[in-house]
Amino acid sequence: MMIQTGIFLLFVFLPVSPASLPLVINTWHFENATAAAWSALQAGSSPLDAAQAGCTRCEQEQCDGSVGFGGSPDERGETTLDAMIMNGDTMEVGAVANLRRVKNAVGVARAVMDYTDHTFLVGESASVFAEDMGFKSEDLTTNRSRDIFSQWLSQKCQPNYRKNVFPDPSMSCGPYTPKAKLHSGPRRKPGLIDLRSHDTIGMIVIGQNGQVAAATSTNGATNKVPGRVGDSPVAGAGAYADSSAGGAAATGSGDIMMRFLPSYLAVEMMRAGASPSAACKTAITRIKERYPDFFGALICANTTGGYGAACNKRPGFTEFPFMVSNAQTNGPVLQKVDCI
Ligand code: ASP
Repeated sequence: MMIQTGIFLLFVFLPVSPASLPLVINTWHFENATAAAWSALQAGSSPLDAAQAGCTRCEQEQCDGSVGFGGSPDERGETTLDAMIMNGDTMEVGAVANLRRVKNAVGVARAVMDYTDHTFLVGESASVFAEDMGFKSEDLTTNRSRDIFSQWLSQKCQPNYRKNVFPDPSMSCGPYTPKAKLHSGPRRKPGLIDLRSHDTIGMIVIGQNGQVAAATSTNGATNKVPGRVGDSPVAGAGAYADSSAGGAAATGSGDIMMRFLPSYLAVEMMRAGASPSAACKTAITRIKERYPDFFGALICANTTGGYGAACNKRPGFTEFPFMVSNAQTNGPVLQKVDCI
């Protein structure tokens, strides 16, 4: 959630949402990603290619440290990547999770879509698939991810995502064994992990004729249990696209958000006639009813170029920034929505 430096942009506060096509909208202040998708569209690329180009830019720039290589080391210090891409014309999805050694996760997700009959590849096998398809194999560790990991080790592996285990996970780095009798609720309030421990680029692109594409890319949650996959690569959770209704994309505590399929819900709300802003709010409210403190936000866009966003208000997170580029702005504009 770190604010990128050097951005001098026009701030527009919602509810300003003039419908205009084509449209690029993405989570957070990731301006260069918006610009990359917008240029791709201007150069004649399809919405799907533009969404891929936008997310690829973020992976290259390591947006906020939470997209691409060198961020969010897991409990073993390794960075792994999750990404997906969805074509709202055909309802095809390509997704990868827990991808190792390959930087361009959204590119690999696209390769799953284009070169297999599958939807989702995970872990080491996804990496081998990527290598077989010609993606470069390289170490995703950087000095930054090494530092985050060593600091975490020196803090007795705090914070972490373990619960109901011996020894108490606040006392040691494990190994852990399960407690015979489980506590009825979570050990700590969910979603209270440092706001800086994760972020995602989620992007929706709507073409001139209302074609919808969506894509996501993230390195997940810092200090995650190895193998953990969040919401971002899961269709309907991290993003969803349907050219007969609209698109949505999420960011936040994926472990919680993925249980509610907020992107799918928002698109269905828009299909039923809700405005993008109302659809986003409904999906956030649905989660909030069960997890009042969860950290998360959603962006939504419909096929006429209307857009909106919503986020769950909590200490330190009262407004959510996102980027928009459409025929009116003709370039990236930073917008913010007040959380509910
Ligand atoms: N949703 C992502 C995940 O849980 C992280 C984020 O967007 O903050 O992996």
